[in-house]
Amino acid sequence: MKTAVVLGAGGFIGSHLVKRLKNEGFWVKGADLKYPEYSKSEADEFVVGDLRDITVVRNVITDNCDELYQLAADMGGAGYIFTGEHDADVMHNSAQININVSKVAVEKKVKALFYSSSACIYPEHNQTDPENPTCAEHTAYPAQPDSEYGWEKLFSERLYLSYKRNYGLNVKIARYHNIYGPEGAWNNGKEKAPAALCRKIAEAPENGAIEIWGDGKQTRSFLFIDDCLDATTRLIRSDKSGPYNIGSEEMISINEYAKLIMQIAKKTLEINNIKGPEGVRGRCSDNKLIEKDLNWKPHFTLKAGMEIHYKWIATQNKKVLV
Ligand code: NAD
Repeated sequence: MKTAVVLGAGGFIGSHLVKRLKNEGFWVKGADLKYPEYSKSEADEFVVGDLRDITVVRNVITDNCDELYQLAADMGGAGYIFTGEHDADVMHNSAQININVSKVAVEKKVKALFYSSSACIYPEHNQTDPENPTCAEHTAYPAQPDSEYGWEKLFSERLYLSYKRNYGLNVKIARYHNIYGPEGAWNNGKEKAPAALCRKIAEAPENGAIEIWGDGKQTRSFLFIDDCLDATTRLIRSDKSGPYNIGSEEMISINEYAKLIMQIAKKTLEINNIKGPEGVRGRCSDNKLIEKDLNWKPHFTLKAGMEIHYKWIATQNKKVLV
C-alpha cells in the first residue's frame, strides 16, 4: 500500500487532500496544530503537534514515504497577511516549519515532496494594472513580493530547491492562486475573499448593503478545491519540479465577483467600497507552463464552483437558516 503524509492536514486544502488520498487507496498520516474544524479527518493516523519543533517533524514523517505534502503555514486572508500586524509570526513560523521539513525529508528518504508556495511571490510591479497582471512563472525574479508572506514563500521555494540540488530531494513546487471551496475558514479572521464575500452576502438583509475593501476594481482569479487537488496530485506524480502556477485564468474584478455571488444568492445588495487591506491591483494565474508540461487545466467555471461554495457558507451561517 502506498503511503502519504500530509502536513497541515487540519487546514482547508490539507483536509480535502487527505480525503482524496484515502479515496485513491493510500495509507495516510496527517499532522497539524489542530483537527479539521468542519468534518472528521479521514487520516489513518493524525498527530496534533507543532511542526516548528523538529522532534515532532521526525515523529510525523515516516521512513520512505511515497508522497509528502507540505501545506502547513501560518496564513490567512488579506485581513491577516496584508495588515503588517502578523509579519514576524508569519515569517518565523512558516520558515521554521520548512527548515525542519526539508531536513527531515532527506533523513527519512521521502520519495516525493510537494510544497505549496503562493501567487503572492510575484513582484508587485507586475501587478499594478488590474486588466493586465503578469504572473508567468519566470517573472518571479527580480523579486519584489508585496507581503512578508510572499517573501517567506519565495525563501522556502529556494530552500527546497537547494535540498534538491545538494541532497537529491525529489521536490515539486506549486504556486497556488486563491483556492476556495467548502470547509475553509469563513468567519474567524483568517478567511479569504471568496468566503468573506459569501458570508457578507448571506448575512445581509434583502436590499441591504455589503462592504468591500478597496475600490472593487482590483482583479483576481479563483480556483475550486477539486481542481486544485487534481493539479497537486498530478504534479507530485510527475517527473517535473516546477515551480508551477496552480490557478484559474478566469479573471474578475472584486465588485463583479460580489455581483456574481449575489446572483447565486438571489439577492440584490448595494456595494460600499471602503478602505481596507487589498493586496496588489491585479492578479491572475498564467497556466501556459502547467498546460504544456502536465496537460492540466481547471474544469470548474467560477460560477459552478461558487454555487457549491456559497451553499456551504449559507448553511454554516445559522442566521441564514432561520
Ligand atoms: P490553512 O490555514 O487552512 O491550512 C494551514 C494549516 O497549517 C492550518 O490548519 C494550521 O493549523 C497549520 N499550521 C500552521 N502552523 C503550524 C504549525 N506550527 N504546526 C502544525 N501545523 C501548523 O490554509 P490552506 O488554505 O489549506 O493552505 C494550505 C497551504 O497552501 C498553505 O501553505 C498556504 O500558504 C498555501 N496557499 C494557499 C492558498 C489558498 O488560496 N488557500 C493560496 C496560496 C498558497
